[in-house]
Amino acid sequence: MTEPSPVPVVDIDLDALAANYRFIQGAVAPAECAAVVKCDGYGLGALPLARSLADEGCRRFFATYAGEGAALRAVLGAGCAIYVFNGVEPATAQEVRDAGFIPVLNSLAQARLWKLTAPTAPAALHIDTGMNRLGLPAAEAQEAARLGLVFETVMSHLASPSPEGNPANERQRAAFEHAAALFPGARRSLSASGGALMAKRFHYDLVRPGIALYGASPFDAPDARLKPVARLTAPVIQMRDIRAGDTVGYGATFTAAAPMRLATVALGYGDGFPRAASNRGAALLGGGLCPIVGRVSMDLIVLDATAAPRDISVGDRAEFFGPRLPVEQAAEGAGTLAYELFTGLGRRIIRRYWRNGRMTGEAAS
Ligand SMILES: *Cc1c(COP(=O)(O)O)cnc(C)c1O
Repeated sequence: MTEPSPVPVVDIDLDALAANYRFIQGAVAPAECAAVVKCDGYGLGALPLARSLADEGCRRFFATYAGEGAALRAVLGAGCAIYVFNGVEPATAQEVRDAGFIPVLNSLAQARLWKLTAPTAPAALHIDTGMNRLGLPAAEAQEAARLGLVFETVMSHLASPSPEGNPANERQRAAFEHAAALFPGARRSLSASGGALMAKRFHYDLVRPGIALYGASPFDAPDARLKPVARLTAPVIQMRDIRAGDTVGYGATFTAAAPMRLATVALGYGDGFPRAASNRGAALLGGGLCPIVGRVSMDLIVLDATAAPRDISVGDRAEFFGPRLPVEQAAEGAGTLAYELFTGLGRRIIRRYWRNGRMTGEAAS
């Protein structure tokens, strides 16, 4: 393995990604598993992820914007369907049509615009069933059905997926079935990662996972069936010993109660690692979990290495999440979710992609 330079790195395990895809596809069969690669593949790099997923047999990809779709088309070729979650507006409708993307139409206005732009081109219809975020109100579904568009998929989105079974999910399911009945030829899709990991009755024809493909549970606690895909590490760039009463970092928010050994690591909120992890999060270093002490600053984090099992020196790398430190746990230590940790990963962080134990390419996002 090549030694990374003394900068933060996120290593992305494409074999783990493929395994997660196979696991979800197996769990939902005979439903089909699509992949949501919006927001640059949750910050991990949409193009290498999409290429790997396509190799694994994935044929449907969801982006948010037409611009994201264009980059995907270049790596996926014509054989894959590319959906655009935010649908069409006057400024993008022709681009979506010309590129052959499938817009997810979220309102009657969008549906009418599509009717004017590409009356015979396939579209998806997103019906809101209680989340009140995006999608056509269910009461307008009848009117959408009368437009005579080619809805190849009708979808909705669960607000509160939960493995325990939440009555709100059943209400959304009933509302979804009711509205979807107006579109008898359309494929039905209700579930993202959460619903895909729930009972069969949530799977319908197509599931749309994102986060679970990337190895994090949508339910915020590690799920042993999902393999970690991303590993964030950063190098120790200085070691120091401090005495009882000494303070650490901006604002002196941490005071040592006893002599301590500190490791200063090259990662900070400028890299997207949340400042909320100040005096709260931790990283693996020297074979043990080392707490973050003091404030996270723009480029630096200080770890308490006093109790680390092994001696630490400059150049050693701390793992902030990955195979040995679940991203769900890291997210909790930063007051957030895996979703936000992944998508926040800064442009300065080097992305490295691995397949069969070998690095396949390096890209600074
Ligand atoms: C983001 C998104 C998904 C994927 O969600 P995950 O929780 O990451 O699986 C699926 N469907 C819609 C409509 C989304 O916005």
